[in-house]
Amino acid sequence: MRIDIITVVPELLEGPFSASIMKRAADKGIAEVHLHNLRDYSSDNYNSVDDYAFGGGAGMVMSIGPIDRCIKTLKEERKYDEVIYMSPDGHQLDQALSNQLSLKENLIILAGHYKGVDERVREHLVTMEISIGDYVLSGGELAAAVLADSVIRLLPGVLNDETSALTDSFQDGLLAPPVYTRPAEYNGWEVPEILRSGNLKGIEQWRHDQSVERTKKKRPDLYKKYSSD
Ligand code: SAH
Repeated sequence: MRIDIITVVPELLEGPFSASIMKRAADKGIAEVHLHNLRDYSSDNYNSVDDYAFGGGAGMVMSIGPIDRCIKTLKEERKYDEVIYMSPDGHQLDQALSNQLSLKENLIILAGHYKGVDERVREHLVTMEISIGDYVLSGGELAAAVLADSVIRLLPGVLNDETSALTDSFQDGLLAPPVYTRPAEYNGWEVPEILRSGNLKGIEQWRHDQSVERTKKKRPDLYKKYSSD
């Protein structure tokens, strides 16, 4: 998979992809993330990428020209499955959407800044709009990193234990069960007996029951969906 992120602050995105699991995905050649500085596509000597809003009001708006030129340049090289704009009013990201995007070959992600992008970008250049939650960030970079991380970790070979993404929260409509590691007892706080029993069937049942209990308690909305499916 290849992900191209268009941004005015590429520095913000250098960290997340240069360590840990995202780096491993790149080193193994499973996922490439390329950062594109929108200023390189500016048409003036000041490298400007924004302008005042028509009609007045506070805040600058990202211009369509540089964004269009950047997307066109990328599309000349290869075909893209989606051009995604990160936006607080987009479709809210969830595991189902991450799963869906993990099956794609090439994605463009556009991170906005300031007041957002000229509406014509959204109407004519973007194929999908995604929000990471009902709050407003100062830029789309962190949201783009969240999206890319949630997708890349699902690609086969990225996680060490391939089954591990499958047992995460949300994959089966339930939250993940509690996990423990050594020591078996700390300050008198004990790890549940069943997990130390070696009884694999019993452990599997316990984990499932805990998942159901946890979902019922913490996310009644998810539980309702799970129990009605
Ligand atoms: N004026 C816009 C917010 C602009 S915030 C509005 O009220 O809707 C600047 C940029 O940050 C946006 O263009 C978007 O790319 C990004 N952003 C902010 N919050 C976000 C969120 N919850 N999810 C995804 N992207 C977000």
